[in-house]
Amino acid sequence: MRMLEERILRDGIVMEKDVLKVDSFLNHQMDVSLFRAMAEEWYHLYADCGINKILTIEASGIGIACITALVFQCPVVFAKKTKTRNIAGDVYRTQVQSFTHNTCYDVIVSKRFLGPGDRLLLVDDFLANGAALSGLMDLSDMAGAQVIGAGIAIEKAYQPGGRLLRERGLRIESLARIARMDENGTMEFIS
Ligand code: 5GP
Repeated sequence: MRMLEERILRDGIVMEKDVLKVDSFLNHQMDVSLFRAMAEEWYHLYADCGINKILTIEASGIGIACITALVFQCPVVFAKKTKTRNIAGDVYRTQVQSFTHNTCYDVIVSKRFLGPGDRLLLVDDFLANGAALSGLMDLSDMAGAQVIGAGIAIEKAYQPGGRLLRERGLRIESLARIARMDENGTMEFIS
């Protein structure tokens, strides 16, 4: 998606260790007009797929997922990070390896909000090694929900997540796919 690629080139900052900082428009300050254009693109791509719920993961996917839910006119659920392992209640739970913090954390979704009738679009800001998306797929499987596909804002395509998850059969629509980037700001996209 050209608009997103241009914004990344203009405002993105490449940090050490393959981290792209996009906090001026995507995951700290949020450009919701851009989010709407992204959501409309996913709506176009997933038209007639019968998506009836958006599922994302705390925290940086939530803003994008909310605008996406507005466009799809359906509810949005986010998987919550939790430190409490023996929390009481009816939840689905899985573990996710954090890309940015290099730790493992538990995520949960209440059984009330995910179930066999759900046809899900998984939404997140980044795809790197695929742990976040994979965790969302685990939770969906536990709930008996059907994952129709994923909508990713920025896929770092030189990292393995996209390939691994597509090999598992997941449809992934990434709006900007970075083929390579380096710290002096040079970046190439896959068109
Ligand atoms: P994965 O689980 O695919 O390895 O990484 C995806 C998650 O890590 C996303 O939810 C995102 O929050 C974070 N992430 C991965 N790469 C980057 C990056 O380059 N920049 C930022 N800001 N977050 C990233």
